[in-house]
Amino acid sequence: MARYTGPVCRMCRTEQKKLMLKGARCKSDKCPINRKHPAPGKDPKARPGKRSDYGVQLREKQKLRRIYGMQEKQFHLFFERGLRMPGITGENLFILLERRLDNVVYRLRFASSRSQARQLVSHGHVLVNGRKINIPSYLVKPNDEISIVEKSRSLTLIRDALKEFGKSGIMPWLSLDPDAMKGVFLAVPRRSDITDLGDIKEQMIIEYYSK
Ligand code: SF4
Repeated sequence: MARYTGPVCRMCRTEQKKLMLKGARCKSDKCPINRKHPAPGKDPKARPGKRSDYGVQLREKQKLRRIYGMQEKQFHLFFERGLRMPGITGENLFILLERRLDNVVYRLRFASSRSQARQLVSHGHVLVNGRKINIPSYLVKPNDEISIVEKSRSLTLIRDALKEFGKSGIMPWLSLDPDAMKGVFLAVPRRSDITDLGDIKEQMIIEYYSK
């Protein structure tokens, strides 16, 4: 699966929002958004222009897609899947994104960013119910147990992430045993449970894809 290999912070600067793509750096003073860097190619003194409806919808979609580190084709497939599920499409999209194995590995603090979690999964360091799964988009189900392969438990990358991010706690739909490096996806979250993504307006994303 293709992945973005360009400058990461540029994506946040484009959206003028912290998308938290670089782990510890995102919380430091080095973050360009904290330093109020302007969007790429924008004159910092220029007045912000008015965006068209399409422009607003596009930006909402790009923000969410970039947070979860997905390419357009796969993100659109997730949207289509959410559309076919019973319930509200916007909520379904969030639920599907949260169920991605790379996201769950990140949420369990085994990695400091979703891209690092994706690498852990694709390099075979992660087990689901004791079985090695190396597909980052694998959808985790309630009560699935996610753990780190025994011989990978000494990896500095994982230990550092647990130490650095374990302090800030984990989401209520997950449980974690940091010493055993295993966690459980207890239940599918509701949209209202996902509180750390800022003000993403999923209705705009639905309108974007409905054109
Ligand atoms: Fe870079 Fe993280 Fe700041 Fe985004 S939030 S600009 S990825 S340091």
